[in-house]
Formats: sequence, C-alpha cells, structure tokens
Amino acid sequence: MTGSSGDPTPPEGLPESIVADLDQLTPEQLRKTIIHARELLQASDEADSPIEPRPGEDIIRVTEHDGYTEVVKRVRCADGCSNCPHGPYLYHVTEEPRPEGGTHTHWSFLGRVEIDEE
Ligand SMILES: [Zn+2]
Repeated sequence: MTGSSGDPTPPEGLPESIVADLDQLTPEQLRKTIIHARELLQASDEADSPIEPRPGEDIIRVTEHDGYTEVVKRVRCADGCSNCPHGPYLYHVTEEPRPEGGTHTHWSFLGRVEIDEE
C-alpha cells in the first residue's frame, strides 16, 4: 500500500505512536518538532564520542589508521559471568555520515586477538 502525495510513508523504524502524534500536528507544531529533534540529535552527537568505553568495557589499545581507528577492548557481560571479562576483541571503528547530518560511529567486530600484557 502506498500513500497519496498528501500522506507520506513514514521512515521504517519510526514508532507508530510518534507517527500518529505527528499526524495530529499543525505545520507550526511540526516545525517546532523538527527544531527540537535537531537539538536532541546535536546533544546526542556530542555525547557520542567515537571511542568511549561503555560500562563494563576495558579499552586496551587505540590505534589511529587512515580511514579507521583500530580498537582492542575487553567486554563484560551485563550481569557478569565466570568467564568475564571476554576478549580482548579487535574492532575497526569508522565514522559514517548520517542521512540527517552529522556522523555516527560504526564498530566492526573482527574477532579475538592475543596481546602482550605487562
Ligand atoms: Zn561474561
């Protein structure tokens, strides 16, 4: 089913409740929604540092390469388990442009690595 020109199809992944709410808005309210959404995006981009250890992660090594950053880190399960921490694992981290502007960080998991530890 395709909508008419006056009934655009919302992007996949947009919650239906949001779509329903947006349908009710006046053009003026829609403009304000866009402004607020942009502000939220910018705020999250600032917090979204490329190589930021998340809770339970140990960054072991970060190496800058041309076009990507190589990261070796250990990962702990949320609840912890007898095998924690896991890894170390090797990731290639790249910054990819978002359609709506800005960039997002893409982590490619490459597998377990052996490292020398002091
Ligand atoms: Zn674990």
